[in-house]
Amino acid sequence: MDDKKIIQKDIVIVGAGIAGLTAALYAGRMNLDTLVLEDALVGGQIANATGIENYPGFMSIKGSELIDTVQKQAEKYGAVIDEFDTIERLELQNNFKLVETANYIYKTPVVILATGMNRRKLPLAEEAKFANRGVHYCELCDGHMYQDKIIAVMGGGNAAVDAAIFLTKYASKLYLIHRSKLRADEVSQERLKQIDKVEILLETEITKLFGDTRLRQVEIFDKQTETAKRLDIDAIFVNIGVMPNTNLFKDQVKLSERGHVLADESCRTNLDGVFAAGDIREKEIHQLTTAASDGTTAALLAEKYIRQFKINNNM
Ligand SMILES: Cc1cc2nc3c(=O)[nH]c(=O)nc-3n(C[C@H](O)[C@H](O)[C@H](O)COP(=O)(O)OP(=O)(O)OC[C@H]3O[C@@H](n4cnc5c(N)ncnc54)[C@H](O)[C@@H]3O)c2cc1C
Repeated sequence: MDDKKIIQKDIVIVGAGIAGLTAALYAGRMNLDTLVLEDALVGGQIANATGIENYPGFMSIKGSELIDTVQKQAEKYGAVIDEFDTIERLELQNNFKLVETANYIYKTPVVILATGMNRRKLPLAEEAKFANRGVHYCELCDGHMYQDKIIAVMGGGNAAVDAAIFLTKYASKLYLIHRSKLRADEVSQERLKQIDKVEILLETEITKLFGDTRLRQVEIFDKQTETAKRLDIDAIFVNIGVMPNTNLFKDQVKLSERGHVLADESCRTNLDGVFAAGDIREKEIHQLTTAASDGTTAALLAEKYIRQFKINNNM
């Protein structure tokens, strides 16, 4: 560690999904010396999406194209984006934050946490075959593809019940399938139960998926009667939890009960100079537009913070 070169930056952004790249674009345009550290490929969750139809300005765009464009925009304004660069140590408590990688120690007044989240996958071997071909994770993103189709939602928490209520606007029939009792609040449960086309199957596991090029049927197992049967289903929306990527800093910034970083609309966390942007931030709506919006807010408020920081520290 001692022989690592120390490099000073105005701002270090952790994570190069849409939130981190948008923050980098804004920061670069404000002439801030900006570094983005990404421990995998640039792009995050949306990188492999085939057709995004709800990002303003595009009728339909591939995730890879959208990300490529934002990356180029950020780099055009001077942001440096390092892929596959693992952060070994992150110290956020002091005025100057320290970000240590294999080769360098970066010293910076501002860190923007934009590490996103992963959705828990349907734990079945056929998941990969039917991903985006009937197995989905985001009702706001993909629900519209299933107008007048038979939809199932898997899960029993508030997010699952809310997703089910939302999807009834498209579905001809909607199953909510959960392996035990519902954990969602009573009010949401009642709302769902009152919708005619809804059937709730509790103590029921989804055990197998069937289809050709896309999902056609699922096998379910009723744990009480110990019987299995097949249902015709066009799409399953899996809603069995998310895993925010907080390992690197979970002992330093305050997290919500769900494990996201606590920060309000200003994206400021409990630590001065540390911002949280995108899906990592605790908020109701996790979408591309809201992640880009956070990236914008975090970068603009970071610039104000840096300006004052430089005055205070005679820099
Ligand atoms: C299949 C799918 C389809 C979707 N479709 C749509 C859609 O059509 N419309 C829409 O609005 N939304 C859609 N979404 C949701 C949308 O993708 C997310 O809301 C958005 O990508 C969140 O962006 P983000 O930058 O906050 O996080 P992410 O995209 O999760 O990016 C976070 C980045 O941080 C990196 N990272 C994590 N930990 C570290 C670390 N320790 N060090 C360095 N880097 C780290 C990750 O590798 C990742 O690249 C979809 C999501 C999925 C999964």
